[in-house]
Amino acid sequence: MSEALLRVQDLHVEFRTRRGQALVLNGVDFELRAGETLCVVGESGCGKSMTALALLRLIPSPPGRIRDGRVLFQGEDLVRATDARMREVRGNRISMIFQEPMTSLNPVFSVGDQIGESLRLHAGLDARAARERAIEMLRQVGIPAPERRVDEYPHQLSGGMRQRVMIAMALACRPDILIADEPTTALDVTVQAQIFDLLRDLQREKGTAILLITHDMGAVAEMADRVMVMYAGRVIEQGSADQVLSAPGHPYTRGLIDCLPELGSSAAFDDDTREDLAEIPGVVPSIWELGSGCAFRERCRHAMPRCAHAVPPMFALAGDGDGGTSHGSACWLHAEALAEETV
Ligand code: SF4
Repeated sequence: MSEALLRVQDLHVEFRTRRGQALVLNGVDFELRAGETLCVVGESGCGKSMTALALLRLIPSPPGRIRDGRVLFQGEDLVRATDARMREVRGNRISMIFQEPMTSLNPVFSVGDQIGESLRLHAGLDARAARERAIEMLRQVGIPAPERRVDEYPHQLSGGMRQRVMIAMALACRPDILIADEPTTALDVTVQAQIFDLLRDLQREKGTAILLITHDMGAVAEMADRVMVMYAGRVIEQGSADQVLSAPGHPYTRGLIDCLPELGSSAAFDDDTREDLAEIPGVVPSIWELGSGCAFRERCRHAMPRCAHAVPPMFALAGDGDGGTSHGSACWLHAEALAEETV
């Protein structure tokens, strides 16, 4: 197993609001290893994008701030890094692509200028070399006639091409980590498949680790080496793609999987459970409604009295062979199962 490139430990992010302090990330822990794809899944508002922004220290501050925790990138804690150091890391060692490229591409600069900018800034290339490299990047991401496209502006390109330009920009400096936040949500299915193929090829070629944020379990099945499921600002399940998709431990993960017919039919639940969870009832609670117990309890058919009083810890469902956890789930059902086993 390769070494962790990124270790996120006990990350807490809070926002100051008129109602008081809102804890939007509550003790997030995970690792990202070189060359792997870790998919972060969950419904809107569960903390996926906030996690990505916190890693790059892009949380708007004020009103937000990282209250506690560490983001160790190759051993260096980015939470405590200077602003100058973060500018070196962003776009160079860790890059990010967003759901809607038009919000990130500047309409008044050509795509070549925009790809070349980070190369001039981080790699010290002169204008001519940066342009050559931009053309090469456009070719690599499958844009036809890159010598012509390099001088075009974002509005002259289709949605799929703009997303490819974003990927070219993000990968121009050969980052160690690519954070992709719902990169294909706005695209049709065919282009989506092409973008995933492209990410896989580039990853194979450059060994980039990918943190893929998505609410689409189909994308997870296609791309993930490992999966992290978030709910209401916490990680509630983690494991290899095989472990999480074929033997999910948390009722919320089961619900997400059963929303997708192909995956639901192969999941390891009885028919009764599957029928009940074909759609997850209710919505993610607001930060003010969480109370002291499991945040999923209002939507969970297995909820029991202790779920209302105590937040479940992460229970190890499988070890990694080194004394760590390879598959874990934060649900009191596992405590019940363990208690039954020991009777
Ligand atoms: Fe359901 Fe309780 Fe498990 Fe939460 S801890 S998912 S409410 S059984």
